[in-house]
Amino acid sequence: MNALNNAQVAIVTGASRGIGAAVAQRLAKDGFAVAINYASSSAEADARVTELTAAGAKAIAVKADVSNADDVRRMFEVTEQQLGKVDVLVNNAGALKTVPLGDTSDALYDQTFDINVRGTFNTLREAAARMNDGGRIVNFSSTTLALNMPGYAIYNATKAAVEAFTHVFAKELRGRNITVNAVAPGPIATSLFLDGKTEEQIQNFAKMPPLQRLGQPDDIASVVAFLASAEAGWVNGQILRANGGLA
Ligand code: NAP
Repeated sequence: MNALNNAQVAIVTGASRGIGAAVAQRLAKDGFAVAINYASSSAEADARVTELTAAGAKAIAVKADVSNADDVRRMFEVTEQQLGKVDVLVNNAGALKTVPLGDTSDALYDQTFDINVRGTFNTLREAAARMNDGGRIVNFSSTTLALNMPGYAIYNATKAAVEAFTHVFAKELRGRNITVNAVAPGPIATSLFLDGKTEEQIQNFAKMPPLQRLGQPDDIASVVAFLASAEAGWVNGQILRANGGLA
């Protein structure tokens, strides 16, 4: 681990488990002080903090429902007070339930848009006012947007909105030297992907990319770490599909 004094500060939303936990771990290893955001999994978020601090990193857990603007404002305030002004924002928190459009309830539509779209909007709006110049923003889209599979209409619509935010916000931050990109993973072995699928369905997804396996959270964490690094300074307003060649 790098020295903690003057460490750059990263917020990772939805970092209690899954891809977000791997991203937080990788950014901590790369020397960032990390705010691990979660909505309800407090025991898991605390466990992540314990792991990272035991490894010599600086980390805090911050409870905030990203779909709630007041929560998001508080998340930035707590992070600033405890770690410092934010350099990197990773908008990883997200939700997926695959249901045919015709069977989608108002509640599921609202919940998916609230977390995936309003959640990203809330953190981006806060970031516009509060992030350090020279920072990095990494949003989360999905390769499902390129596949048009039945059951994904609502989820894909939310990720299309996130891609639109990414392209436009990158331009709105002109003069700040802040890059805004998105990563669009293919299937990754987390509960978001695995829950509710049969073993046969999972194996079918695993066979789809030419690299012939499911992605792992670390496959995405390394892409986010690159986009968050100084090395990626000339990559801006882009959507990076990380999916083993699936689409
Ligand atoms: P996951 O395992 O289900 O984890 C989701 C994380 O988001 C959890 O830490 C959860 O914390 C948090 N979260 C959910 N609602 C939240 C809210 N309202 N506010 C704050 N945090 C919230 O999901 P994942 O697979 O790691 O997915 C991460 C991102 O990758 C998502 O944006 C997803 O759309 C995208 N993605 C995933 C895949 C895949 O195959 N897994 C593929 C493409 C894109 P709590 O438990 O505390 O709510």
